[in-house]
Formats: sequence, C-alpha cells, structure tokens
Amino acid sequence: MNTIIKNGRVLDPAHGIDMSCDLLIKDGSIADMSPNIEVEDAECIDASGCLVTPGLIDIHVHLRDPGFEYKEDIESGTRAAAAGGFTAVACMPNTAPVNDSKATTRYILEKAAQVAHTRVYPVGAITKGLKGESLAELGDLKNAGCVAASDDGHPVTNGEIMRRALEYARSFDLPLISHSEDLTLVGDGVMNDGFVATELGLRGIPWVAEVAAIARDVMLAEYTGARLHIAHVSTRGAVDIIRAAQKRGVRVTAETAPHYFTLTEDAVRGYNTNAKMNPPLRSGDDLEAIRAGLADGTLSVIATDHAPHHLDEKNVEFNLALNGIIGLETSLPLTLRLVEEGVLSLSEAIFCLTAGPARALNLPGGTLEVGRPADVTIIDPEVKWTMDPAAGRSRSQNTPFGGWKLKGRAICTLVDGRVRFKR
Ligand SMILES: [Zn+2]
Repeated sequence: MNTIIKNGRVLDPAHGIDMSCDLLIKDGSIADMSPNIEVEDAECIDASGCLVTPGLIDIHVHLRDPGFEYKEDIESGTRAAAAGGFTAVACMPNTAPVNDSKATTRYILEKAAQVAHTRVYPVGAITKGLKGESLAELGDLKNAGCVAASDDGHPVTNGEIMRRALEYARSFDLPLISHSEDLTLVGDGVMNDGFVATELGLRGIPWVAEVAAIARDVMLAEYTGARLHIAHVSTRGAVDIIRAAQKRGVRVTAETAPHYFTLTEDAVRGYNTNAKMNPPLRSGDDLEAIRAGLADGTLSVIATDHAPHHLDEKNVEFNLALNGIIGLETSLPLTLRLVEEGVLSLSEAIFCLTAGPARALNLPGGTLEVGRPADVTIIDPEVKWTMDPAAGRSRSQNTPFGGWKLKGRAICTLVDGRVRFKR
C-alpha cells in the first residue's frame, strides 16, 4: 500500500529540511522525499498550500484511563489528539489505579492497541501510589513499556527519595519528569500570587514555589548525572535555572504549555475556573520569559498538560474547582501564533512539537527520515476557525479558549502511514 502526499511544504526541523516536494509512504514507512514522485497504484493526498511535518508528539497528557473515564478515556483522548495533529501522546500515571505497576502499564498498552487513534506511551509513577514514600519498581515499569517516570500532579517532596529515584533511573537511562512545586510555599493558594489575586480576594501561589522545587531537582540531576525533564514551566526564575544548568552540561530538558505563553493571570478575572491550573497562569513578565526560553531553545518542548474535567468539577466556586484544562486541539494553532508574532520561526515551532519532545523522552519519531514509520501531520497554516469546546473530540470541554478565533489546524494525521484523522 503506497501513499503520496503531493505538493506540500515539507518541514523536518531535526534535519533542517524545509522544501516544496512530495512525500512517498510505502508499507507504512517513509520511502522518499523529492519533487514529482510518480508511483503506480499509489493513493494521493493533495497537500497544496499545506505543511507536511513529522507527526506531532505531546509528552504530557492525562488520558484519565483507568479510573476516570467520565472525564476521558484512551479512545476519546487519542481521538482529540489525532484531530489536533498528534500521532503520539505520553500519558501521565495519576489514574485509578495509579500506573505504578506493570499490570496497569500493560492495561494501558493493550487498550491502546485496540482503540487508540495515536501511539500511546505510558509514563509510570516514581513512587508507589504517587505517595512520595517508597519508590515504584522503575525497572519493571520500563520493561513493561513506560517511557519515563513521574509523580505528576504531586512533587516528590522528599529530596532523598528523589535522589534515589534519579540514581536508580540513571542505571537504565529512564528519564524522570519533575512536577515541581514546593507545597509548603504553595500553601492553600489557588492562583498566581500578585495584584490580581489581591484584587479578586484569592489566595496566591508565589513563583518561588515552582522555582525552588526546580532548583532542587536540577541540582539533584547534576549531582546524580541522571536525565531529568521539567514539566509545565511557568516562571521566569525556572527558565533562568534551566538555562544555566544546560550551559553546565546538566542533562535537563524542559517543557512549557500553550497556556503559559498565551495567557496571564488576568484570565482568572471573573473567577474563570477554566483559567485555573497548576502551576497557575503567571504574570506578563513570566510570559515573556517563557517565550524567550522557547526562542533560545531552553524550553525545547511544547506539551499540553491536557487535563480533562467534568463540567461539575469546574462549574463551582473558584476555590473548589479542579486544576487543569484540555489542550490537544488548540496546541498547534496557539503555537503557530508564536510564529505569526515573530517569537519563533516556523521550523522552531514545529521542532517544539516533534523532535524536541521525542528527544526529551527518547521516543522514536519526531522526524521524516526515510525508513522511519510514517507518522505524518498535514497542516493548513492559513485556515481560520473559531474554537468551539462542544465541537471538540475530548469527552470534556474545560478550556479557556472557547470562542477564540484561531488560525491553522491539522487537516490530516497519519500513523504508520494510515490516515487516523482527516478533516
Ligand atoms: Zn504536573
């Protein structure tokens, strides 16, 4: 079975490729990239006016399965992912049961094999039950198919346990993902600490709650020589620490999410619970620093932290609302806004959605190299559309971007050369 994607602008940032040509897919793999490919019996996809990129990869997604299927499950979450242009997602372990055992990892992979629209890479827990007390069997989790370990949703508060986790993970080159917050500094805060919080009468979370925790974990990564990935960076101080550590050669990568380079704490005004997330939306100064961190490569990954919640969990008083927003179908257009605004080149933007995340977690994919599995995303960069949460594929609708006028979206998503989504 052959497919030719014709007349697109083919972008493969990992190899510095940006050219108008055709892409040939043969038996599920990328077979050729050149102008005017002619092959008999090939199905043609016209990509005129479109970008043809490596399949987008989101390494921070909550699929909520097992245990919270009323919010999302592996089928609905990956359907939203494919519609957003993603060919692979990494799913976080804060499910019920927690993914701290090979049995749960196997459940995720077996269900994904049956129902998923994208590749699914499970992330295992660092500690049993995400309790921060004793280490999960990281070797078993890796052998069962976990690509990384994280207690996402919770920090590993005990420094000695984090040190042992890093030393243990280093022995089999498993990246650890740090959800960085110092809970004693977070206290009972519900939004960024500052003027807006004071005005709204809401308790604040100071930026140093994130920065202090990242400082510890980055130093532990330097001390142990292990690989560390920092989740959802939201502050200027965090970008500064990560940049300096990378200059020293510490094996640390970091991601931010579209909401942190698009929105500030102002979005909380009106007690908008769809602007409540953890870490919280920060100041305009932090937003500028996040953009600068993306521009200079300190932050090499854009990940959504897709966190579906039921309407009843958001339609409550701000203090009681659960943290998080969905993001799979808005990540690409919000990232393309950075190109429009001159923050990133198109190639840099696509890098942060493809090769950047692939490298951070050692995943296959993220490039269009000949011979690789044909995970490909076709993007119309010019199409204008209005974001309607009810029209999304996710089971949940908690997004602050409802009604936004966006530009650019995936029109076709192929995994292993098979069309998994087409608009
Ligand atoms: Zn987190």
